[in-house]
Amino acid sequence: MALLNIVKEGDPTLRKVCRPVTEITPRILQLLDDMVETLIDSNGAGLAAPQVGILRRIAVVDMGDEIVELINPEIIAVEGQQQELEGCLSVPDVWGITDRPQKVTVKALNRFGEEFTVTGEDLDARCFCHELDHLDGHLFTDKAIRILTPDEVAELKGE
Ligand code: ZN
Repeated sequence: MALLNIVKEGDPTLRKVCRPVTEITPRILQLLDDMVETLIDSNGAGLAAPQVGILRRIAVVDMGDEIVELINPEIIAVEGQQQELEGCLSVPDVWGITDRPQKVTVKALNRFGEEFTVTGEDLDARCFCHELDHLDGHLFTDKAIRILTPDEVAELKGE
C-alpha cells in the first residue's frame, strides 16, 4: 500500500477522458488499494483515478459505513434534485454549490470483475456524480451554480 500524490487543478490529467478498464490486473488491484488508503488519509469523500494521475475509469467513494470501489462506473438512474456544497481534493480551498440529483444509482464492476449496482442519496449522490465527472475530465467548478467567496469559505472552516 502506498499514499498517492493528488494532482491539482491546472494539471492536464484532470481534463482528459479516462479509458475503461478491460482487465482487472494486479496493477489495477494495487491502484484500488492505494486509492482507498489515499482517500482515507486525505479525509475526502471520494477519489477518482485521474486525480492520482491514472487515466482509467476507476473511483472510490466513502459512503460512511464502507468505501465502495467502482470500476467502469455508469449512472443508470437519478431521482430528485439538490443544491448543496461541494469541494474537491484537486481544487483545495474552493467550495461551490452544485445542482445534482438527490438520489443516484451507479452500475459498476467490483474488484472481482462482477457487476453490481449501488444507490446513494444526498452527499453520496453528489459524490457519485462528482467522481464520475472526473472520469470525463470535468471538475465541479465547471458546473457549480455558485462559488463561495473567500469570506464564506473562512466561515465554513470556522476561521
Ligand atoms: Zn474531485
